[in-house]
Amino acid sequence: MVKFVKVKAKSILQKQKFRDNWFWNRYNLNSYRGCQFACNYCDAITEKYLVYKNYKDFSRIIYVKENAPELLEKEVKRFKPDVVAMSGVTDPYQPAERKCKLTRNILKILVKHNFPVHIITKSDLVLRDIDLLREIARQTWCTVSLTIVTFNQDLLPYLEPFAPPPEKRLETVKRLNEEGVQAGVDFTPIVPFLLDSVENIEEVIRKASQYAKYVLIGAAMTLRSNQRTRFLELLHKNFPELVRKYKELYGKQENPRQDYVVRLNKIAFEFCKKYDIKNYISPPDFERPRKENFEVANLLLLIAFFKEFKSGNPYSAWAYHKASQSIENLKESIRDVYERNELEKIPGVGKNISRVIEEFLIQGRSEKLKREINSW
Ligand code: SF4
Repeated sequence: MVKFVKVKAKSILQKQKFRDNWFWNRYNLNSYRGCQFACNYCDAITEKYLVYKNYKDFSRIIYVKENAPELLEKEVKRFKPDVVAMSGVTDPYQPAERKCKLTRNILKILVKHNFPVHIITKSDLVLRDIDLLREIARQTWCTVSLTIVTFNQDLLPYLEPFAPPPEKRLETVKRLNEEGVQAGVDFTPIVPFLLDSVENIEEVIRKASQYAKYVLIGAAMTLRSNQRTRFLELLHKNFPELVRKYKELYGKQENPRQDYVVRLNKIAFEFCKKYDIKNYISPPDFERPRKENFEVANLLLLIAFFKEFKSGNPYSAWAYHKASQSIENLKESIRDVYERNELEKIPGVGKNISRVIEEFLIQGRSEKLKREINSW
């Protein structure tokens, strides 16, 4: 039995320090706390995000931030329009949303103030708001990622006991794209030893490629604090033969071994090539002052995405993130800086990055990015 508790939040729009180079968001917005879908691999139950005394309450007590739309209406006036991700640590279209309509009311405000949006969900309920999503796509940029990690009916009850069936999610991706809202599949996480077979990876990518604009690959499933406790409980009870393998793969670390992540990413990358589907989301292209600075900043972030993906190390492209952020915050045109021969004065921009920027400013493209996209 799920209990719903109405609460008043103090703030609702969280600004991130850096733009995310998977989902392209600069803000996060969570209008619920807790999630009824109760996925057993969910990392939103880690202590970092948790407010519950018992982590199992994450899916048994849902806090409904009833003042979220009202707060947002005030907060948007203080922030520049940029991509809002809904939601980092809950599903914005979990069953509670049918009645509460917080996500719908929030979207109405974001439309009114020209904020681009990225929705990450497992629910076809997102189609209810197609009118608003279409309008956001028309005004600025709107993307919806439906998470699908397997179509294996035997494993789903263990991993995602209360989420809508993956076939329904794929159908949702199809409908969204038909309606003019960019939609793809978020294949995250690839759960070790349960979902990491070549057959499972191929099946998800093959089926996604029929309807999705992209497939994001998340081979590095974390095991942190409560998330680790809960997941190991699941293994002990249902897959005891895997416990030792998990210990070998993770040791005491939060992430699986890097060589394992790279191997899976490479397999997934090759299947994306085989089925002709992107493994990344193209950067948002909404209008903003100094558009060229924004394009250069996003180019660097996309190169960083591929470096991280191929190395299995989320910190392997730190300079690209720093340079991207500096360029986005520049108070003048990047082209003027280039013409004064001062690119390397920008924080984070060294010789290599300055060459990438120069090529883009002169030729309007990047060979480096092209190589990253096309080959491993
Ligand atoms: S849908 Fe997302 S937020 Fe909800 S339990 Fe599953 S992984 Fe966690």
